[in-house]
Amino acid sequence: MDYQELIDEVYHEVSKLKLKGKVADYIPQLADIDPDLFGIALVDLEGNVYGAGDYRKEFSIQSISKVHTLTMVFHVFKSKLWHRVNVEPSGNPFNSVAQLEYEKGIPRNPFINAGALVITDALVSKFKDPEKDIIKFINEITGHKSVKVNPIVHTSELDHSDRNMALAHFLRAHKNFNNGIDRVLDVYTYHCSLEMNCIDLARSFNFLANDGHCIFADRSILTKRHTQRVNALMLTCGFYDESGEFAFRVGMPGKSGVGGGVAAVMPNKFSVAAFSPQLNDKGNSLKAMKALESLTTKLKFSLF
Ligand code: GLU
Repeated sequence: MDYQELIDEVYHEVSKLKLKGKVADYIPQLADIDPDLFGIALVDLEGNVYGAGDYRKEFSIQSISKVHTLTMVFHVFKSKLWHRVNVEPSGNPFNSVAQLEYEKGIPRNPFINAGALVITDALVSKFKDPEKDIIKFINEITGHKSVKVNPIVHTSELDHSDRNMALAHFLRAHKNFNNGIDRVLDVYTYHCSLEMNCIDLARSFNFLANDGHCIFADRSILTKRHTQRVNALMLTCGFYDESGEFAFRVGMPGKSGVGGGVAAVMPNKFSVAAFSPQLNDKGNSLKAMKALESLTTKLKFSLF
């Protein structure tokens, strides 16, 4: 299989589509991006990179970082984590407050905001210097020393975090929150403000395609079994309330973010990241989703 040819074909096919979406604007800094950017990069299990379009352009990875923090925390707490967060798709918007009330303070899954806040709370409990540890971890799994947080996005996220604050208070009311709310919100918005390009993002997911072994760090990040768990969660919960649609059309475990990025893995084959800022009404990137759909359709690989 010539991956470069495939990526070029996907890129040209999707570039031509007239898809009109909306750039995330709940914080001003995210709205300030060229809406027509579009890139895709695939990284195979030897670390070879195949890219097209704006795949070297950095963007805000937002919720995709929830996979990185889940990995860090899962490695420490193992299955005890599932006492605090469920593993069910939510079928509700990512920032739903109502659902948390019905679920008595146990979020439906680690990728909706309530679940991700519990994960960040666990991270703050266990890691001495969470911000530094997050950067260290991501640099390690991408094999680079250059991954950064955008401080303006971070501050702006914090200034607009009323809903997340509400979720954190709710979690605390249900005794599912152990640290100061401001501290956890600071770390949560910090990891949402990480910036990466498609290459680094695909590299950071590569261990999930490789039974937990990261070729860039040259070590096992998660056991094979834990890797399967994270992939199962991405497949069922990785795309907000459109996860079923993504599994149906694309058929790969993945995670999206409102910055327009999508990262996904084809186990035992490759990891891939696509980016385009225009989102559909569920908060997923129109072109990035289409690109991955086209990729798996052309490849005829299927998990199933
Ligand atoms: N920082 C965002 C929030 O919590 C994450 C948005 C996303 O990508 O889902 O609102």
